[in-house]
Amino acid sequence: MNKPAEIRENVSLRTLNSLAIDASARWYADVNSDDQLAALLAFADREGLETLILGGGSNLVFAGDFDGLVLHMALTGRRWEQVEGDSAVLALGAGENWHDAVLYAAAAGYRGIENLALIPGTAGAAPVQNIGAYGVELRDSLVSVTVLDRDTGDWQVLANEDCDFAYRDSLFKHQPGRYVIVELRLRLSRSQPLALGYADLRDYFEAQKTDELTPLDVAQAVMAVRRRKLPDPQQMPNAGSFFKNPVVSLAQWEALKADNPDMPGYPGRETAKLAAAWLIDQCGWKGFRDERVGVHNRQALVLINHSGGSGADVLALADRIQRDVDARFGVQLEREPGVIPARKASGA
Ligand SMILES: Cc1cc2nc3c(=O)[nH]c(=O)nc-3n(C[C@H](O)[C@H](O)[C@H](O)COP(=O)(O)OP(=O)(O)OC[C@H]3O[C@@H](n4cnc5c(N)ncnc54)[C@H](O)[C@@H]3O)c2cc1C
Repeated sequence: MNKPAEIRENVSLRTLNSLAIDASARWYADVNSDDQLAALLAFADREGLETLILGGGSNLVFAGDFDGLVLHMALTGRRWEQVEGDSAVLALGAGENWHDAVLYAAAAGYRGIENLALIPGTAGAAPVQNIGAYGVELRDSLVSVTVLDRDTGDWQVLANEDCDFAYRDSLFKHQPGRYVIVELRLRLSRSQPLALGYADLRDYFEAQKTDELTPLDVAQAVMAVRRRKLPDPQQMPNAGSFFKNPVVSLAQWEALKADNPDMPGYPGRETAKLAAAWLIDQCGWKGFRDERVGVHNRQALVLINHSGGSGADVLALADRIQRDVDARFGVQLEREPGVIPARKASGA
């Protein structure tokens, strides 16, 4: 029998989100087991409370206080399954720290997720935006996720193809709140080729013979490169890239390129991906700072909460940047982190 989760009232979320926004949760509980999750959701339904599933809080912005029940996913557990020849499946509880899981797999010699080292947050949130970095995405290795479907009340296993993965996107973003992910399974292998195509990684390994590299070497290279480029949220509270790289039609790309010959872009067969950081930089925002919030001085994609900024401050800055980029280039930037709207008390 599982101990019922403790529900606390008026809990500060400041240390539970990487932007360090000082919002509070009217109700809060750590979720340590599937049974606790089911019981807490049933409680929220009975009481008519909004719920928020919270992982590491590194991909969301609290627009204000949350007058509902925050469920902090603390379900841990790592398990090797189906170890056959060079290949194995690693099962991770939703509350496992993602970066620790990457190092754990890489140290065991398994390849597939080493390029995703140092991405903050939990394993359970990784499928939500199909995390990606240095040429690798979660969908490349994900086998399935176990979810509680709040619409039906059923536990389900969703296979990779059921998750509608795309660039920083998935089913879970399109039906927010419906699925609570409790576990994911990743297919890893000791012999698949390492993904070393990104210039930063090629430069890092320069003269080294790449056929001797281990997945741990690659994870460490990714960590070194990321530490050079991205501010540590512990020192400069941030939510990583605040905007997705926009995807435009080839016709728009060609018109933009004709007007801006230096514009970087990655044309494909039907669309082209633009570099959001370049667009923001061109509008003069890199290094901007007001009293509370600003834009990182080396990485224009990263908004920083310098000193007690609220969610509204961060969102207002994002808005100004979006409007400038639209006015100058006719390109609409889309925010990457989710916005958690302030919930007003129902008066009860
Ligand atoms: C410095 C920095 C660097 C980053 N670099 C990258 C990067 O390179 N690539 C990249 O893709 N992302 C990056 N991110 C974004 C972020 O780390 C990832 O999106 C991460 O997966 C978020 O995990 P989290 O546990 O913090 O999620 P949270 O922020 O807690 O939640 C994000 C969303 O997922 C939902 N959610 C969380 N857990 C669950 C669950 N178990 N079931 C259902 N829904 C859930 C939440 O309700 C919310 O909507 C970066 C962020 C920071 C701060």
